[in-house]
Amino acid sequence: MGAQIISGRDIADEIRAELKDRVAHLKEGSGVTPGLATVLVGENPASQMYVGMKNKAAADMGINSRQITLSIDTSEDELLGVVSGLNADPGIHGILVQLPLPDHIDEGKVLEAIHPSKDVDGFHPINVGRLATDSGDFFAPCTPAGVIEMLTRSGHDPSGKHVVVVGRSNIVGRPLAALLLRKAIGGNATVTVCHSRTADLGSVTRSAEILIVAMGRPEMITAEMVAPGAIVIDVGTNRVDDPSRDKGYRVCGDVLFDEVAEVAEAISPVPGGVGPMTITMLLANTVKAASLRAASR
Ligand code: NDP
Repeated sequence: MGAQIISGRDIADEIRAELKDRVAHLKEGSGVTPGLATVLVGENPASQMYVGMKNKAAADMGINSRQITLSIDTSEDELLGVVSGLNADPGIHGILVQLPLPDHIDEGKVLEAIHPSKDVDGFHPINVGRLATDSGDFFAPCTPAGVIEMLTRSGHDPSGKHVVVVGRSNIVGRPLAALLLRKAIGGNATVTVCHSRTADLGSVTRSAEILIVAMGRPEMITAEMVAPGAIVIDVGTNRVDDPSRDKGYRVCGDVLFDEVAEVAEAISPVPGGVGPMTITMLLANTVKAASLRAASR
């Protein structure tokens, strides 16, 4: 395997060390301690695990974290009331409502109720719109923001490059394309976005200098779909059955790693690639929200 490994784990550590310093300076300089509130409705084990990881990572950084756990039968109005209380709370700079919400609650309504200046997940339409129009202050969704950091910090600035993004979800593909198009560091790319209706996917992915895959299809991108010397970022996180493992499964990306690593110049692994970046960018957004608040006082 000749490819450089783009380790999300190492880059996340680097960013977390920088954030720790910024949190300490913010506390010293303006007396502000960033505060992150996570709201969990119900007892979905995966959601409980994610929220726990987010709170622990925040605490490690010196960020105040507050977890609000509500029962599965919480009404939409009750949840909106909680969000409204957090919007008004001066000690809270970032609000994260863990998705998915139970079926009786309108997710869009709840996400729109979060004040845009505290929307550290970057899903509020104001933040989505500012990112799309590349204007004003906004919070970018964490996974795509993490991908941009991985590219720039590993020496693969997308500026002027043809970047192909496979996937057009609102969480990953679409905001990633918008970030890559920005007239800013980490942007200025020529962007092609593929999806399930793309004809002859391989011929498009082969034209990429940088290929970013977020399709949720285990190991679908093979070596013949990648140009020699391309940079490959694999966002996919899939569980596939593997009786040879104690757990009975393994986690893999959307890219057939061993094969593609033979042709790519650089590649991110799964696990240890984009995954560790997502929570790190949530912390970065929370520190940014607190800094903006401190500067506006
Ligand atoms: P979605 O299912 O919402 O979107 C998948 C996208 O891939 C869709 O746009 C879909 O097209 C496209 N797609 C699916 N099959 C094909 C195909 N055969 N050819 C071309 N395009 C295809 O997934 P997400 O964006 O939420 O997530 C994508 C992957 O990233 C998942 O594996 C997920 O687990 C992972 N992920 C990882 C994160 C991390 O922190 N590491 C965070 C978020 C996601 P269409 O729109 O036409 O349906």
